Amino acid sequence: MRTVDPTIILLAIIGVLYLVTLGVILKRRSVREWPVGLLVLYVVVSLLLTLGAPGFRLGWPPFLAADVLERVLLHGLLLLSLLFLHVGRSFLRLGGAGWGWWALGVAWMAAAVALNGNLVSLPEEVWAGNGRTLVVRPWTVQRQGLGLGVLVLGWGVFMGGAAVLTVRGYRQTQQPLHRNRITYWSLALGLTVVGGALLFTGRDLLGAGLHLLGVLGVAYVLLTYRLPDVRQMGRQVASYLIIALLTAIIYAGGFLLAEYVLQSVPGYNPLLLGAVLALGLALLLDPLLSLLQRLVSGLISGPGYDPRRTLREYSMSISNILDLERLGMVAVGLISEAMDVRRGTLFVVHYENGEHSEADGTGRFRLRSVRGMGKRVPSGVLAFESPVATYLRLKQHPLTQYDIDLLPRFQRIAPEERAWLDSLDMDVYVPIYAKGEWIGLLGLGPKASGDRYFDDDMTLLSTLADQTAVALQNARLFDDLKARNTENERLNEELTAANCELARLDQAKSDFIDIASHELRTPLTQVQGYSDILGEMIQEQTLVPESGLQLVQGVRKAARRLREIVDLMLDVSQLDTETMVLNAAPTSVGLIMNMAVDNWAASLEERQQTITVEGLSNLPLVTADGKRLKQVFLHLIQNAIKYTPDGGQIRIIGRHLGTDDLPEEQSVEVVVADTGIGIATEDLGRIFQKFYRTGDVMSHSTGRTKFKGAGPGLGLTMARGIVEAHGGRVWAESPGYDEDTCPGSEFHVILPVQPRCLDSIGLDPFMAAVRAEHRQAFPSLQ
Ligand code: ADP
Repeated sequence: MRTVDPTIILLAIIGVLYLVTLGVILKRRSVREWPVGLLVLYVVVSLLLTLGAPGFRLGWPPFLAADVLERVLLHGLLLLSLLFLHVGRSFLRLGGAGWGWWALGVAWMAAAVALNGNLVSLPEEVWAGNGRTLVVRPWTVQRQGLGLGVLVLGWGVFMGGAAVLTVRGYRQTQQPLHRNRITYWSLALGLTVVGGALLFTGRDLLGAGLHLLGVLGVAYVLLTYRLPDVRQMGRQVASYLIIALLTAIIYAGGFLLAEYVLQSVPGYNPLLLGAVLALGLALLLDPLLSLLQRLVSGLISGPGYDPRRTLREYSMSISNILDLERLGMVAVGLISEAMDVRRGTLFVVHYENGEHSEADGTGRFRLRSVRGMGKRVPSGVLAFESPVATYLRLKQHPLTQYDIDLLPRFQRIAPEERAWLDSLDMDVYVPIYAKGEWIGLLGLGPKASGDRYFDDDMTLLSTLADQTAVALQNARLFDDLKARNTENERLNEELTAANCELARLDQAKSDFIDIASHELRTPLTQVQGYSDILGEMIQEQTLVPESGLQLVQGVRKAARRLREIVDLMLDVSQLDTETMVLNAAPTSVGLIMNMAVDNWAASLEERQQTITVEGLSNLPLVTADGKRLKQVFLHLIQNAIKYTPDGGQIRIIGRHLGTDDLPEEQSVEVVVADTGIGIATEDLGRIFQKFYRTGDVMSHSTGRTKFKGAGPGLGLTMARGIVEAHGGRVWAESPGYDEDTCPGSEFHVILPVQPRCLDSIGLDPFMAAVRAEHRQAFPSLQ
């Protein structure tokens, strides 16, 4: 009878186990998932290779030579290492398809096939070293050896790559659950490496067995979501061993001691002694064991915490806190102390209605981060229908980052939500509810010990979250109140400002009325007086044409004055209420000034005053409202004429300020200087104030006796308003006021060439008219 090699039977059994594994994988998960598809391929190739090995031993298939078949199997190992690397990549959730690795794998396989199949027709002895001596055999490289070398090296590269990626993945994650998973993966990796190495060295059975264990490990890690904690298991085994050892020592020590002491006692019976000791131990075993267990677990896992004490301290500490920030700090601080956590944050959850209502599911939860421990984390937003929000809203149970990373229900979470959660870098999220409504969230980072949050921790955290609810609710209300208070204060300030503005406007209105009653009365009286005389003369038929004309001229002059004052008042009120509209356009300051000077030609002649204009023709165009600018210049010249004695001099000087490199910084300065009575130093700032006039206000209209036509004290206010509306400045300079020596005064106007507050809209019609008018008078400007 032909005997079958037991190795073949064992290899066949291993093959069957692969089949079972395959069945389990396919039953539990869909091959359409990329990692599962890769795993299935990996198991199938492993299966084929395992089945191929017994065939090769039995000389089957007959058409393939044994060494060819062996090479095929070794190529299979190279393929397996490449597949393992990619299963590892997807297990470690490294992004991308890893095309670089695939390309390297294919190239390596092709090179191995080419060498081993001698497709490139290499000589049998690929390389022979020089220096052949009779004693030392030279180094030679056989083609066969080279082929095998390439296969082994390729396998080493891919398994090494998998190992490097695994170590990197372990280092990159701080989360114990992920680390635990990677630890399992590392074990599977180790088994696969050792198995592969044994297969390469021809130890088929042992190699195949370890490889199978590796595959089982890989499949287990990939398919199982909740893996037992390796550290915990290690600790349990260690503590069991220590306890068993200590118990044995106590028993053996007790026995030896008793025997040593009692052996001289008459009637000593070792059997009885053993029985008594066993009884004693049995009686003491329970308390002794628990004492040992406490000691050992304290030794191995650290001091731990007492949940009841933690709970008591927690509820006592937080119950009276009203400030959200403090609540966050104390709550997270106490948990951190108990569980040895280094980072944590309290989030306040606010629901924001969607377009329609809560029912339509379009709302979202705003999670505002309150201070906790460690670095401050950003606040975030979760959509109402987001899987994370749904879980936290309904499940009333802590959620781990591990769950979010791995559970399929969280796969469709929005990328921005995932990015936010990743940026928090927390290990566990504990929701807080008040009357069934989700109002807060405690986010806790990894434990300093590197341990995961065990079930007991989760239960305690849920209880602590319940304790936090009332305090959080109160703190939220308090926070709302504070926010409303701040808002009220702000509104109050706004109201005060509005009141001030109203008071200012009211004052402006009463000033207007005051000044109107005073300023308008003089020309009105004149109109009335002239018209009365005119009426009487007509009645008495004494009106001669010359005196009639004189009276009408008087009426006209008074009416013009009335009009001037009313216009000025309207302008100032427009500036006051910021309703003045400026039509900005590139404007020549020189042209405007010439127009203003022309306007006063008759008065200048009447007062025998000379006026000179310098440096204005070469100034750059400024963006300005020409009409308003003309008003400013008219008024400055008018004042200069008014407050300068007959025969005085008025000088107008233009300057260009700034460099050509910075057009936006350039400006134009215009100075109107006179040889008049001057201005007292204390009045220099005040004369621009509304209705401010130096000297006796009521006697002012009649002039400082010899200077006729003083205004209502609005002209400079209007001028400053217009200049400032152009982004410019105006100020007065004077050595002082003296009617006798006439020290003179200077009015400076600075206008930016390109004011930021005005947009240029091209040459306006007013400027076009001005240019046309002056074309003849100033041919150099054309
Ligand atoms: P008014 O319409 O009364 O002239 P302004 O606002 O133009 O009012 O001027 C305010 C005051 O500034 C004038 O009352 C006058 O005392 C003083 N003032 C203005 N320009 C000159 C000047 N060129 N020389 C001396 N004093 C001046």
